[in-house]
Amino acid sequence: MRFATAAIRAFQAPDPETGAVIPPIYQTSTFAQISPGEHKGFDYTRSANPNRFALEGVLAELEGGTHALCYTTGIGALSSLCFALFKPGDHLVVSDNVYGGTHRFLTHVLSTYNVDVEFVDMTEPSNVEAAIKPNTRLVYMESPTNPLLKILDIERLVAIARGAKTDKPIITCLDNTFASPWLQKPLKLGVDIVLQSTTKYIAGHSDVLGGALILKDESHYETLEFHQKTIGATPDPFACWLTLRGVKTLAVRMKLHCDNALAIARHLERHPAVETVIYPGLESHPQHALAKRQMKGGYGGVVSIRLKGDEATTCRFAQDLKLFTLAESLGGVESLINHPCRMTHKSVPEDERNSIGITGNLLRLSIGIEDVDDLIDDLEQALARL
Ligand SMILES: *Cc1c(COP(=O)(O)O)cnc(C)c1O
Repeated sequence: MRFATAAIRAFQAPDPETGAVIPPIYQTSTFAQISPGEHKGFDYTRSANPNRFALEGVLAELEGGTHALCYTTGIGALSSLCFALFKPGDHLVVSDNVYGGTHRFLTHVLSTYNVDVEFVDMTEPSNVEAAIKPNTRLVYMESPTNPLLKILDIERLVAIARGAKTDKPIITCLDNTFASPWLQKPLKLGVDIVLQSTTKYIAGHSDVLGGALILKDESHYETLEFHQKTIGATPDPFACWLTLRGVKTLAVRMKLHCDNALAIARHLERHPAVETVIYPGLESHPQHALAKRQMKGGYGGVVSIRLKGDEATTCRFAQDLKLFTLAESLGGVESLINHPCRMTHKSVPEDERNSIGITGNLLRLSIGIEDVDDLIDDLEQALARL
């Protein structure tokens, strides 16, 4: 099945008992057993549930993996991955520009377990080569990055991790949340494990949280599946059902997100009150050629801008918008605006924020699928007040 068909049909056959076209929500914590230890594939919902089974099947299919594992949130997926992979004394190489919550987990939780967490600018692949040590266990990437939309050369970074001489083979993981599997297939580019915050584009309606790890190696699957049920950050049946409901329209939503975002990026690039527009689909983006090669069908729905003005002016602009809601998160059908310094990336220390470019005049726009002319009108009226 091709992408849009799989999103609607894979693992989603009508319920054999009743013919219900949409499989029911199996809102149960436990399952009747035939004899002690003998059951129909499900014993307790933390370990397995039909709604989670269906969602995991679809996500594996869409990312081109053999297995997917779902979690309560994207950060639940990240923490479960880290607890499964790391032993005290191990070393992690991670992109310096990652989601704020990822940065917070790695620096404030994982590092207290005596794991050496090293942030590097991965847009220069030789930095990764230089950072790898014999005890490096994981290379963790994000592309496009949040909120600066840097693009990493995934194949090149995977080749560096593969070629490194380390005690154990390095595992590579890429957070594919911003691209979604519709735009980018990291597993096909050689990455071992894809992380998704399904809260964003996959569920797509800002009404449910979730995370997933998608992979293609049987031994990684066994390790992670054991930790999934043992750590216990597994989603409830209704969250899985809602997420699967969102997945069905992923392809059509992503096309609109990308079209609207490109139109808005081009429009803002010409506006005199805007200092810079960061969007991988613009020719002015420093890694536009790489993005074009690595992503298929568009460049995503997030556009970041820097205004000509200070932090206070920038915050006022964000509040003057009427259609764009001032809120964290992204990837929903409705447009949102976020001030990274004061919101999503507040936990990143100020000097670190400044050094990577998360400045007071930076805004991150999550472009929804409303009529693009209404979105442009809204931006215009708020820009006119500056
Ligand atoms: C939101 C987000 C996460 C975390 O996901 P939650 O579901 O909020 O825990 C991780 N990575 C990226 C890129 C995100 O945008």
